[in-house]
Amino acid sequence: MDLRRYIADIPDFPRPGIVFKDITPLFLDRAALRYVVDRFAQLARELRADFVLAAEARGFVLGGAIAAAADAGFVLARKPGKLPRETESVEYQLEYGVDALEMHADALAGGARVLVHDDLLATGGTASALCELVERKGAEVVACAFVIELAFLGGRARLAGRRVESLVVFD
Ligand code: AMP
Repeated sequence: MDLRRYIADIPDFPRPGIVFKDITPLFLDRAALRYVVDRFAQLARELRADFVLAAEARGFVLGGAIAAAADAGFVLARKPGKLPRETESVEYQLEYGVDALEMHADALAGGARVLVHDDLLATGGTASALCELVERKGAEVVACAFVIELAFLGGRARLAGRRVESLVVFD
């Protein structure tokens, strides 16, 4: 299925010079949504993933659906201060400044097999932070799965050593 028609380019959002890839049209279309969930659920099953880990907010949309379809659990990564119990936290570099992601400290244990998911791979900062949360716990990243990859930003290199799957690549 050609998913490009479900991805809208929004120039100068959220700041001048950024072309925002809006995937909400893909979420609206039941066939496209089903296709993406099935592709990544199949990957998760092939790799015997125990969990899907995704970051708020857009990562939650497909992440939960993929987990349910793959018969895996779902782990939330959230911005600081949102999770109610003890957390594991990782800081990562943004273009300007740093941000952080947290997951519940007891969400993953050593030996767990985890599929990391986000809607889009840009510089790889978010996804490598997610991988660090997994690996700090002695769990294993079986693959990183993205709907969109902005290849010109080099995120794949930042995830070196891990399997990276993306459905639509912009060069
Ligand atoms: P990065 O950490 O640089 O790989 O950025 C990935 C995260 O930022 C993902 O959670 C995306 O949702 C978001 N993101 C980065 N660039 C874009 C873009 N051009 N369009 C839409 N979302 C983006």
